[in-house]
Amino acid sequence: MSVYNFAAGPAMLPTSVINQIKRDLPSFNDSGMSVMEISHRSDLFENIINGAKTNLRDLLNLTDDYEILFLQGGATTQFATIPLNIAKTKHIGLVDTGHWAIRAQEEAKKAGITVDTIASSKDNQYHNIPKISQPQQSLDYIHLTTNNTIEGTAYDQLPDLKHLVLDVSSNFLAQDYRLENVDLIYGGAQKNLGIAGLTIVIIRKDLIVDTDLPSMWNYKILAKKNSMLNTPPVFAIYAADLVLKWLKDLGGVPEIENRNRQKSSLVYDFLDNSKLFNNTVEKKSRSLTNLVFSTGDPKLDKKFIEKAQENNLVNLKGHRLVGGMRASLYNAMPYEGAEALVDFLEKFESENRR
Ligand code: PLP
Repeated sequence: MSVYNFAAGPAMLPTSVINQIKRDLPSFNDSGMSVMEISHRSDLFENIINGAKTNLRDLLNLTDDYEILFLQGGATTQFATIPLNIAKTKHIGLVDTGHWAIRAQEEAKKAGITVDTIASSKDNQYHNIPKISQPQQSLDYIHLTTNNTIEGTAYDQLPDLKHLVLDVSSNFLAQDYRLENVDLIYGGAQKNLGIAGLTIVIIRKDLIVDTDLPSMWNYKILAKKNSMLNTPPVFAIYAADLVLKWLKDLGGVPEIENRNRQKSSLVYDFLDNSKLFNNTVEKKSRSLTNLVFSTGDPKLDKKFIEKAQENNLVNLKGHRLVGGMRASLYNAMPYEGAEALVDFLEKFESENRR
């Protein structure tokens, strides 16, 4: 059975990547072993991890000033690990754009860091991205969540601030941000870069300094060991490499951003003209990758989600904190998936007029 999977993560993979994984499964590169069985100390894996790094470097036009780490523990581990490594004065700024920003704040505080909220859209129920100006106080860095997976908001462009640290978990490689003021970028792979189990950290090399942190949290040691201090998530890195190659062949981040804009516009245009469904996010703060909407009636929302599922449009239920519906249109979602969603929204609206 084929479905369109609108899950927020783990999320759908490009069909060609799934097919490549199937082809590679019995015997990777004629080794007689599947990728799941190869040693992380083998040449086979060295080629995978180094290839993935090169592909990522190319896609983001990263200079040699940046180091790429392939880690485990999800973005959640990085909420504390980042400040422990790079917040020299233990004082950072954070923009409060909703749930994941707050989680980042809580974890940094647990690590003994002072966190100043320098802007927030809480008063507007997180329906927009707040305006931010360079703070007066001296801060080690400013933490931004580029795309708010639950609230359905995103930065269209990065604010002109120095020393940014970006949680890009839900729009990594989906939008072409200018990265020149960025100290560090991080996120889990399970939305736009493959499967769960891999966390990416991209960090300016001059920020990698000696610390006495335990080894698994210690960027200096992890970088020195080429992310292989211990057994890395071999299969997840292999899957990420395939996704990166797919994206490169497609034309890279500018091209996928165009496609993501086309997909999301199709759905937003429908919602803007709908008499049944609505989206409460301010227009210029709308996410390209996580589109939230509802009928305003929890019973009707539930019916919509059930009927959509019967029509092979799956995982449209909104996050439990906000309810309603959420369609995640990550890089791997084809335009036809957005079209199928809009066709179904139209049909549901005509059958459930109020
Ligand atoms: N940050 C954002 C924006 C997210 O969407 C998520 C998960 O959905 C996280 C952080 C947490 O990521 P992980 O589950 O990889 O720890």
